[in-house]
Amino acid sequence: ARKKLGKLKKTPAVTKCGTPITLLANIELPEDCPFALESGASGVGLFRSEFLFMGRAHKIPTEDEQFEAYRNTVQSMKGRVVTIRTLDIGADKPLDQSDHTALNPALGLRAIRYCLAEPQLFLTQLRAILRASAFGKVRILIPMLAHAFEIDQSLAMIAQAKVSLREEGVKFDDAVEVGAMIEIPAAALALPMFVKRMDFLSIGTNDLIQYTLAIDRVDYEVAHLYNPLHPAVLQLISMTIAAGHKAGIDVAVCGEMAGDVKLTRLLLGMGLREFSMHPAQLLAVKQEILNSDLGLIAPQMRKIMRSMEPNVIAEAVQQLQLM
Ligand code: PEP
Ligand code: MG
Repeated sequence: ARKKLGKLKKTPAVTKCGTPITLLANIELPEDCPFALESGASGVGLFRSEFLFMGRAHKIPTEDEQFEAYRNTVQSMKGRVVTIRTLDIGADKPLDQSDHTALNPALGLRAIRYCLAEPQLFLTQLRAILRASAFGKVRILIPMLAHAFEIDQSLAMIAQAKVSLREEGVKFDDAVEVGAMIEIPAAALALPMFVKRMDFLSIGTNDLIQYTLAIDRVDYEVAHLYNPLHPAVLQLISMTIAAGHKAGIDVAVCGEMAGDVKLTRLLLGMGLREFSMHPAQLLAVKQEILNSDLGLIAPQMRKIMRSMEPNVIAEAVQQLQLM
Protein backbone atom coordinates (compact mmCIF):
# COMPACT_ATOMS: atom_id res chain seq x y z
CA ALA A 1 0.00 0.00 0.00
CA ARG A 2 2.92 2.28 0.78
CA LYS A 3 4.30 2.01 -2.74
CA LYS A 4 0.90 2.72 -4.23
CA LEU A 5 0.46 5.81 -2.04
CA GLY A 6 3.90 7.00 -3.14
CA LYS A 7 2.54 7.30 -6.67
CA LEU A 8 0.16 10.00 -5.45
CA LYS A 9 2.96 12.38 -4.48
CA LYS A 10 2.57 14.57 -7.56
CA THR A 11 -1.18 14.05 -7.99
CA PRO A 12 -3.09 17.26 -7.18
CA ALA A 13 -5.34 16.94 -4.12
CA VAL A 14 -8.79 17.34 -5.66
CA THR A 15 -12.04 15.71 -4.58
CA LYS A 16 -13.84 13.34 -6.96
CA CYS A 17 -16.25 16.20 -7.69
CA GLY A 18 -13.45 18.63 -8.54
CA THR A 19 -12.83 20.73 -5.40
CA PRO A 20 -9.14 21.49 -4.81
CA ILE A 21 -7.84 20.86 -1.29
CA THR A 22 -4.59 22.20 0.20
CA LEU A 23 -2.47 19.65 2.06
CA LEU A 24 0.29 21.04 4.27
CA ALA A 25 2.88 19.51 6.59
CA ASN A 26 3.43 19.96 10.32
CA ILE A 27 7.13 20.19 11.19
CA GLU A 28 9.16 20.62 14.36
CA LEU A 29 12.61 21.48 13.00
CA PRO A 30 14.11 22.60 9.67
CA GLU A 31 15.48 19.05 9.32
CA ASP A 32 11.90 17.83 8.80
CA CYS A 33 11.58 19.68 5.45
CA PRO A 34 12.79 16.78 3.27
CA PHE A 35 9.99 14.61 4.71
CA ALA A 36 7.47 17.37 4.05
CA LEU A 37 8.63 17.60 0.41
CA GLU A 38 8.72 13.82 0.06
CA SER A 39 5.07 13.68 1.14
CA GLY A 40 4.11 16.08 -1.64
CA ALA A 41 2.98 18.78 0.80
CA SER A 42 2.25 22.13 -0.82
CA GLY A 43 3.89 23.89 2.12
CA VAL A 44 4.29 23.94 5.88
CA GLY A 45 1.03 24.60 7.73
CA LEU A 46 2.54 24.42 11.20
CA PHE A 47 6.18 24.88 12.18
CA ARG A 48 6.18 24.25 15.94
CA SER A 49 8.97 26.74 16.63
CA GLU A 50 9.21 25.81 20.32
CA PHE A 51 11.31 22.80 19.31
CA LEU A 52 14.16 25.24 18.53
CA PHE A 53 13.95 26.36 22.16
CA MET A 54 13.49 23.06 23.98
CA GLY A 55 16.16 20.86 25.53
CA ARG A 56 18.76 23.63 25.63
CA ALA A 57 18.64 24.28 29.39
CA HIS A 58 18.08 28.03 29.65
CA LYS A 59 20.05 28.98 26.53
CA ILE A 60 17.46 30.62 24.33
CA PRO A 61 18.40 30.66 20.63
CA THR A 62 19.61 34.10 19.52
CA GLU A 63 17.87 36.12 16.81
CA ASP A 64 20.53 35.06 14.31
CA GLU A 65 20.22 31.38 15.24
CA GLN A 66 16.45 31.55 14.86
CA PHE A 67 16.73 33.47 11.61
CA GLU A 68 19.05 30.77 10.22
CA ALA A 69 16.54 28.06 11.17
CA TYR A 70 13.57 29.91 9.65
CA ARG A 71 15.45 30.89 6.49
CA ASN A 72 16.70 27.30 6.05
CA THR A 73 13.13 26.11 6.30
CA VAL A 74 11.85 28.68 3.83
CA GLN A 75 14.62 27.88 1.35
CA SER A 76 14.22 24.10 1.77
CA MET A 77 10.53 24.44 0.94
CA LYS A 78 11.45 26.04 -2.42
CA GLY A 79 8.86 28.79 -2.69
CA ARG A 80 6.08 26.94 -0.89
CA VAL A 81 4.30 28.64 2.00
CA VAL A 82 5.85 28.25 5.47
CA THR A 83 3.58 28.94 8.45
CA ILE A 84 5.72 29.62 11.50
CA ARG A 85 3.91 29.37 14.80
CA THR A 86 5.37 31.67 17.43
CA LEU A 87 6.67 30.12 20.61
CA ASP A 88 4.10 27.76 22.18
CA ILE A 89 5.99 27.24 25.36
CA GLY A 90 5.41 27.86 29.04
CA ALA A 91 3.95 26.01 31.92
CA ASP A 92 3.05 22.86 29.94
CA LYS A 93 6.19 22.74 27.76
CA PRO A 94 8.78 24.37 30.04
CA LEU A 95 11.98 25.79 28.62
CA ASP A 96 13.65 23.90 31.43
CA GLN A 97 12.24 21.18 33.71
CA SER A 98 12.85 23.40 36.72
CA ASP A 99 10.20 25.83 35.38
CA HIS A 100 7.55 23.16 35.85
CA THR A 101 5.79 24.62 38.88
CA ALA A 102 2.33 25.71 37.68
CA LEU A 103 -0.55 23.81 39.28
CA ASN A 104 -2.55 23.70 36.05
CA PRO A 105 0.13 24.05 33.39
CA ALA A 106 -2.28 23.80 30.44
CA LEU A 107 -4.22 26.72 31.90
CA GLY A 108 -1.15 28.71 32.87
CA LEU A 109 1.32 31.13 31.41
CA ARG A 110 1.92 29.43 28.05
CA ALA A 111 2.16 30.31 24.36
CA ILE A 112 1.07 33.87 23.54
CA ARG A 113 0.50 34.59 27.23
CA TYR A 114 4.13 33.76 27.93
CA CYS A 115 5.33 35.75 24.91
CA LEU A 116 3.40 38.87 25.88
CA ALA A 117 4.85 38.57 29.39
CA GLU A 118 8.35 38.31 27.87
CA PRO A 119 8.21 41.01 25.17
CA GLN A 120 11.95 40.98 24.51
CA LEU A 121 11.92 37.26 23.76
CA PHE A 122 8.82 37.69 21.57
CA LEU A 123 10.28 40.64 19.64
CA THR A 124 13.47 38.68 19.00
CA GLN A 125 11.48 35.81 17.51
CA LEU A 126 9.29 38.13 15.44
CA ARG A 127 12.35 39.89 14.02
CA ALA A 128 13.91 36.53 13.12
CA ILE A 129 10.70 35.35 11.40
CA LEU A 130 10.29 38.64 9.53
CA ARG A 131 13.89 38.51 8.33
CA ALA A 132 13.23 35.02 6.94
CA SER A 133 10.17 36.37 5.11
CA ALA A 134 12.51 38.12 2.68
CA PHE A 135 13.44 34.65 1.35
CA GLY A 136 10.01 33.16 0.57
CA LYS A 137 6.35 33.05 1.51
CA VAL A 138 6.14 33.16 5.30
CA ARG A 139 3.02 33.32 7.45
CA ILE A 140 3.00 34.02 11.20
CA LEU A 141 0.67 31.93 13.37
CA ILE A 142 -0.09 32.92 16.98
CA PRO A 143 -1.03 30.14 19.45
CA MET A 144 -3.57 30.18 22.32
CA LEU A 145 -5.26 33.48 21.59
CA ALA A 146 -8.49 34.11 23.48
CA HIS A 147 -8.68 37.84 24.19
CA ALA A 148 -8.98 40.84 21.86
CA PHE A 149 -6.13 42.61 23.67
CA GLU A 150 -3.86 39.61 22.99
CA ILE A 151 -4.56 39.91 19.28
CA ASP A 152 -4.02 43.68 19.38
CA GLN A 153 -0.80 43.40 21.38
CA SER A 154 0.53 40.64 19.09
CA LEU A 155 -0.15 42.76 16.01
CA ALA A 156 1.44 45.79 17.72
CA MET A 157 4.56 43.75 18.49
CA ILE A 158 4.78 42.61 14.87
CA ALA A 159 4.47 46.24 13.77
CA GLN A 160 7.18 47.21 16.25
CA ALA A 161 9.50 44.47 14.96
CA LYS A 162 8.92 45.77 11.42
CA VAL A 163 9.77 49.34 12.44
CA SER A 164 13.05 48.25 14.03
CA LEU A 165 14.03 46.22 10.94
CA ARG A 166 13.10 49.06 8.60
CA GLU A 167 15.23 51.49 10.61
CA GLU A 168 18.15 49.10 10.25
CA GLY A 169 17.53 48.70 6.53
CA VAL A 170 16.85 44.95 6.91
CA LYS A 171 14.59 43.39 4.27
CA PHE A 172 11.33 41.60 5.07
CA ASP A 173 7.93 40.95 3.50
CA ASP A 174 5.74 43.81 4.68
CA ALA A 175 2.62 41.88 3.56
CA VAL A 176 3.38 38.83 5.73
CA GLU A 177 0.08 37.27 6.78
CA VAL A 178 -0.75 36.85 10.45
CA GLY A 179 -3.13 34.13 11.66
CA ALA A 180 -4.62 32.82 14.87
CA MET A 181 -4.70 29.32 16.25
CA ILE A 182 -8.29 28.60 17.26
CA GLU A 183 -7.71 26.18 20.10
CA ILE A 184 -9.50 27.73 23.07
CA PRO A 185 -13.30 27.34 23.04
CA ALA A 186 -13.68 31.05 23.87
CA ALA A 187 -11.99 31.87 20.57
CA ALA A 188 -14.33 29.61 18.60
CA LEU A 189 -17.27 31.29 20.33
CA ALA A 190 -16.00 34.81 19.58
CA LEU A 191 -14.98 34.42 15.95
CA PRO A 192 -15.95 37.92 14.76
CA MET A 193 -13.17 39.20 17.03
CA PHE A 194 -10.69 37.06 15.10
CA VAL A 195 -11.84 37.27 11.50
CA LYS A 196 -11.89 41.05 11.72
CA ARG A 197 -8.21 41.24 12.72
CA MET A 198 -6.58 38.13 11.27
CA ASP A 199 -5.54 37.03 7.77
CA PHE A 200 -6.18 33.32 8.38
CA LEU A 201 -7.19 30.81 11.06
CA SER A 202 -5.80 27.42 11.99
CA ILE A 203 -7.80 25.15 14.26
CA GLY A 204 -5.68 23.36 16.85
CA THR A 205 -7.98 20.45 17.56
CA ASN A 206 -5.58 18.85 20.07
CA ASP A 207 -6.01 21.71 22.50
CA LEU A 208 -9.54 22.58 21.40
CA ILE A 209 -10.67 19.10 22.45
CA GLN A 210 -8.68 19.30 25.69
CA TYR A 211 -10.23 22.61 26.70
CA THR A 212 -13.76 21.93 25.46
CA LEU A 213 -14.05 18.60 27.25
CA ALA A 214 -11.82 19.52 30.22
CA ILE A 215 -9.65 16.47 29.49
CA ASP A 216 -5.92 16.77 30.07
CA ARG A 217 -4.56 15.64 26.70
CA VAL A 218 -1.53 13.96 28.32
CA ASP A 219 -3.34 12.21 31.20
CA TYR A 220 -3.86 8.53 30.31
CA GLU A 221 -6.42 8.13 33.09
CA VAL A 222 -8.89 10.27 31.17
CA ALA A 223 -7.71 9.38 27.66
CA HIS A 224 -10.93 7.42 27.03
CA LEU A 225 -12.89 10.67 27.40
CA TYR A 226 -10.84 12.50 24.77
CA ASN A 227 -13.37 12.31 21.94
CA PRO A 228 -12.94 14.36 18.75
CA LEU A 229 -16.51 13.41 17.80
CA HIS A 230 -18.17 14.95 20.85
CA PRO A 231 -20.96 17.12 19.41
CA ALA A 232 -19.62 20.20 21.23
CA VAL A 233 -16.24 19.77 19.54
CA LEU A 234 -17.83 19.28 16.12
CA GLN A 235 -19.95 22.41 16.56
CA LEU A 236 -16.91 24.54 17.44
CA ILE A 237 -14.90 23.26 14.48
CA SER A 238 -17.77 23.71 12.07
CA MET A 239 -18.53 27.23 13.31
CA THR A 240 -14.90 28.25 12.91
CA ILE A 241 -14.68 26.99 9.33
CA ALA A 242 -17.95 28.68 8.40
CA ALA A 243 -17.09 32.02 10.03
CA GLY A 244 -13.64 32.13 8.43
CA HIS A 245 -14.98 31.37 4.97
CA LYS A 246 -17.83 33.86 5.36
CA ALA A 247 -15.20 36.53 6.14
CA GLY A 248 -13.17 35.41 3.11
CA ILE A 249 -10.15 34.08 4.99
CA ASP A 250 -8.47 30.67 4.87
CA VAL A 251 -9.16 28.17 7.63
CA ALA A 252 -7.00 25.11 8.27
CA VAL A 253 -7.05 22.31 10.78
CA CYS A 254 -3.55 21.56 12.08
CA GLY A 255 -4.34 19.25 15.02
CA GLU A 256 -4.22 15.45 14.87
CA MET A 257 -7.74 15.28 13.42
CA ALA A 258 -6.40 16.61 10.10
CA GLY A 259 -4.21 13.52 9.65
CA ASP A 260 -6.81 10.93 10.60
CA VAL A 261 -8.19 9.34 7.41
CA LYS A 262 -11.27 8.24 9.32
CA LEU A 263 -12.13 11.93 9.76
CA THR A 264 -11.13 13.30 6.34
CA ARG A 265 -14.66 13.19 4.90
CA LEU A 266 -16.17 14.63 8.07
CA LEU A 267 -13.85 17.65 7.83
CA LEU A 268 -14.48 18.01 4.09
CA GLY A 269 -18.20 17.93 4.83
CA MET A 270 -17.78 20.73 7.35
CA GLY A 271 -16.26 22.78 4.56
CA LEU A 272 -12.59 22.37 5.41
CA ARG A 273 -10.32 22.98 2.40
CA GLU A 274 -6.91 23.14 4.12
CA PHE A 275 -5.41 20.31 6.16
CA SER A 276 -2.04 20.38 7.93
CA MET A 277 -0.61 17.16 9.36
CA HIS A 278 2.43 15.02 10.04
CA PRO A 279 4.00 14.29 6.63
CA ALA A 280 3.66 10.52 7.20
CA GLN A 281 -0.15 10.85 7.00
CA LEU A 282 -0.39 13.16 4.02
CA LEU A 283 -0.62 10.73 1.11
CA ALA A 284 -3.22 8.56 2.83
CA VAL A 285 -5.34 11.66 3.44
CA LYS A 286 -4.84 12.66 -0.20
CA GLN A 287 -6.04 9.25 -1.35
CA GLU A 288 -9.17 9.67 0.76
CA ILE A 289 -9.77 13.12 -0.75
CA LEU A 290 -9.39 11.80 -4.31
CA ASN A 291 -12.12 9.24 -3.55
CA SER A 292 -14.49 11.68 -1.83
CA ASP A 293 -17.58 13.21 -3.39
CA LEU A 294 -18.82 16.29 -1.54
CA GLY A 295 -22.30 15.82 -3.01
CA LEU A 296 -22.60 12.41 -1.34
CA ILE A 297 -21.18 13.65 1.95
CA ALA A 298 -23.53 16.63 2.35
CA PRO A 299 -26.80 14.84 3.30
CA GLN A 300 -24.96 12.72 5.85
CA MET A 301 -23.41 15.88 7.33
CA ARG A 302 -26.80 17.32 8.18
CA LYS A 303 -27.50 14.23 10.24
CA ILE A 304 -24.14 14.42 12.01
CA MET A 305 -24.26 18.11 12.85
CA ARG A 306 -27.84 17.97 14.13
CA SER A 307 -27.29 14.99 16.39
CA MET A 308 -26.43 15.17 20.06
CA GLU A 309 -26.18 11.37 20.30
CA PRO A 310 -22.60 10.06 20.31
CA ASN A 311 -23.65 6.69 18.89
CA VAL A 312 -25.58 8.26 16.03
CA ILE A 313 -22.63 10.54 15.23
CA ALA A 314 -20.04 7.77 15.40
CA GLU A 315 -22.10 5.54 13.13
CA ALA A 316 -22.81 8.30 10.64
CA VAL A 317 -19.10 9.17 10.48
CA GLN A 318 -18.36 5.50 9.82
CA GLN A 319 -20.89 5.50 7.02
CA LEU A 320 -19.13 8.47 5.41
CA GLN A 321 -16.18 6.11 4.97
CA LEU A 322 -18.23 3.77 2.82
CA MET A 323 -19.46 6.38 0.35
C1 PEP B 1 -3.18 21.72 18.54
O1 PEP B 1 -3.34 22.15 19.69
O2 PEP B 1 -4.04 21.07 17.92
C2 PEP B 1 -1.94 21.97 17.81
C3 PEP B 1 -1.82 21.76 16.53
O3 PEP B 1 -0.86 22.44 18.52
P1 PEP B 1 -0.05 21.58 19.59
O4 PEP B 1 -0.40 20.12 19.39
O5 PEP B 1 1.39 21.87 19.31
O6 PEP B 1 -0.53 22.14 20.88
MG1 MG C 1 -2.08 23.61 20.62
